[in-house]
Amino acid sequence: MLALTGCAEEKHTQAFFAMDTYMTMDAWGENAETALSRAGERVEEIEREISVTDAGSDLSALNGAGGEPVRVRADTLEILKTAGEVSEASGGALSLTLLPAARAWGFSGGGEYRIPSPAELSDLRAKVDDSKITVSGDFVTIPEGFGLDFGAVGKGFASDAALEVLKDEGVQSAVLNLGGNVRTLGQKDGGGAWEVAVKNPFEPSRTLGILSVGECAVVTSGNYERYFEGEDGQIYGHILDPKTCAPARSGLASVTAVAENGLLADALSTALFVLGEDGALEYARQNGGFEMLLVTDAGEILLTPGLVFENRSELPVKVVKP
Ligand code: ADP
Ligand code: MG
Repeated sequence: MLALTGCAEEKHTQAFFAMDTYMTMDAWGENAETALSRAGERVEEIEREISVTDAGSDLSALNGAGGEPVRVRADTLEILKTAGEVSEASGGALSLTLLPAARAWGFSGGGEYRIPSPAELSDLRAKVDDSKITVSGDFVTIPEGFGLDFGAVGKGFASDAALEVLKDEGVQSAVLNLGGNVRTLGQKDGGGAWEVAVKNPFEPSRTLGILSVGECAVVTSGNYERYFEGEDGQIYGHILDPKTCAPARSGLASVTAVAENGLLADALSTALFVLGEDGALEYARQNGGFEMLLVTDAGEILLTPGLVFENRSELPVKVVKP
């Protein structure tokens, strides 16, 4: 006899460290345990392909190629294509060629945090230009002195790829959290919406509120994740404005993007953070296909109409139509 229950399956969890962050994956169903370990291997494979520190990665090969073409793997091509579309549509607010600038500030490669001089920033700006990336078949070329970095989109892509593995293994219900990049599959075990907590950017240990979502990706970007305080007392965050090569100061404390896949949501969360409130709304008008939750520096929560959000903070909420 079949038991008819709301909560039929056992939950399996895998937790690990990859891509410089803590990751957890929960899945329900018969084959979940094996499926999760395969999904974890897939994340590690992607890390080896796109890390900027692993000598065997596509990005290390490209960044050290001195302007020569390099054959890259399918994952790298896919990231370049989708993230490249967001880069273009956002007028370069998302840039895959920011590595030299991120290094100069000490945000990449384990260097010390520092504030580059105006002259140095001006030199760096000449090395940040995604239109100089050329793709021909599976060969990619970037100019000498340029550097590719998928830091803004890699975890989102990995969340999609891990989800594909789970689906191939027969899993129908899962939720992944790859360092703040949340990706859901199917419905929560027992039915109903997934509840995704959004952090309060002013107090990251506290929950801002809960988003109720279906199968999608929920990704948050904010400068509270990684920053340093300069000798001038100012806070310098790790999301850079490619136009200035300095930390983005757009009036936003955090951006949460909700989209149908993780790569897109991750690309958007970073791009919209750089664009700021007006730019983000304009981007949504022009492109659509996602929902967003913005927290302004002034302490207001702005939501697009498609989101279901339960506010758990003191901050006021306003629904904004793009
Ligand atoms: P997190 O890595 O904290 O989840 P993001 O997805 O917003 O946050 O990615 C930020 C990372 O992406 C930075 O650490 C840096 O490596 C890189 N980055 C910073 N600014 C940009 C930008 N404007 N476009 C693309 N990549 C960026
Ligand atoms: Mg991102």
